[in-house]
Amino acid sequence: MSEHVRQLEDRFQLPTYKKFPLVIERGDDVWLLTDQGERYLDLYGGHAVAVTGHCHRRVVAAIQRQVEKLIFYSNLVYNDARAEAVQKLIEIAPVGLSKVFFVNSGAEANENAIKLARKLTGRTGIISFEGGFHGRTMAALSATGSSKYHKGIAPLVPDHHHVPFGDLQAVAAKMNETVAGVLLEPIQSMAGVRMASAEFYQGLRRLCNQYGALLIYDEVQTGMGRTGEFFFAPRWGVTPDIMTLAKGIASGVPMGAVLVTEAIASRVGYGDFGTTFGGGPLACAALTATLEVIAQEQLLDNVRQQSRYLMERCQALSSVEQITGLGFLLGIRFKQPAAAFQQGLLQRRILTGLADDPHVLRVLPPLTLRQPEIDLFINALSQVEEELL
Ligand code: PLP
Repeated sequence: MSEHVRQLEDRFQLPTYKKFPLVIERGDDVWLLTDQGERYLDLYGGHAVAVTGHCHRRVVAAIQRQVEKLIFYSNLVYNDARAEAVQKLIEIAPVGLSKVFFVNSGAEANENAIKLARKLTGRTGIISFEGGFHGRTMAALSATGSSKYHKGIAPLVPDHHHVPFGDLQAVAAKMNETVAGVLLEPIQSMAGVRMASAEFYQGLRRLCNQYGALLIYDEVQTGMGRTGEFFFAPRWGVTPDIMTLAKGIASGVPMGAVLVTEAIASRVGYGDFGTTFGGGPLACAALTATLEVIAQEQLLDNVRQQSRYLMERCQALSSVEQITGLGFLLGIRFKQPAAAFQQGLLQRRILTGLADDPHVLRVLPPLTLRQPEIDLFINALSQVEEELL
């Protein structure tokens, strides 16, 4: 069976991803099950998506209930699942962000955020950061600050400017009255889990205010509790004008969101934006259930506690140079290339992620990860370390 599944995908699917040689059929919390009945510990979460773990029973039940009632209708009608989801999401949103536009992915959320900034300011310039990742659609890609994603598709969307991450002077030098927005991935995950200083985040807010540009936080990866708080922006007292979300907001049912301040919302009208599937009842039911699980199971506390434990234990390993990031968005920097560690872990049935920085292994597990599984991971990592010495 395994071979058959792999052959079919290899034959008919474009080869855009270098896959793990696994056929995953089931998921249960932090575990994945192959068609051979082997269990893998999932410290990657399917690109940071499995926020509540795989197939959390409350999320599954909410999806099942919704599927029986109404799978889809667009934003042309009101719907109970959508009404509940918008209320619940705005309740936990950073203070000041009071309205939401639902979409289907991170790229779509950023695409709309960029359009919104241009439309509302009447300007065209977008400043973003070297190393930031914002998605694969044209504007989101043009904002992505890594040339490897741009190869062969020029010309990009005009008036996008990349400056070094964490460098406020560089932003100030690019700021003027043609800049519509500054788009920031506050912890640069793909670049190797890089964070900037508090002064940088706060300084960006000041610069945007000074020049009348909109500050856009791409919290596609940092949002929904991954850092141990619901969102990153309030950590340094920053309220962005626009915040984008996606990944695990509906526990794996595709969904994205663009949250905005009241000042922005008051200037958006009928027909300004659109999407067929955004805010569909199924995704909305999954979002509400996801938020309920995070609250009921105190997953933010869990992330903070277990992240500390994971970092402490990791730091004790001799091959580890540094651990970066927050909560369950962690980058483990090895003295040697991280790919060898990823392979060694895979042989021990643990999934992790790589980054554009070849020395960094990314750990993006479900927020439900607990100490026994962290111990498994650390033990496996020390075995791999010994093997590679
Ligand atoms: N923004 C960030 C920070 C991301 O990590 C990603 C995806 O990895 C995206 C945007 C794009 O999201 P999607 O793949 O859902 O379009």
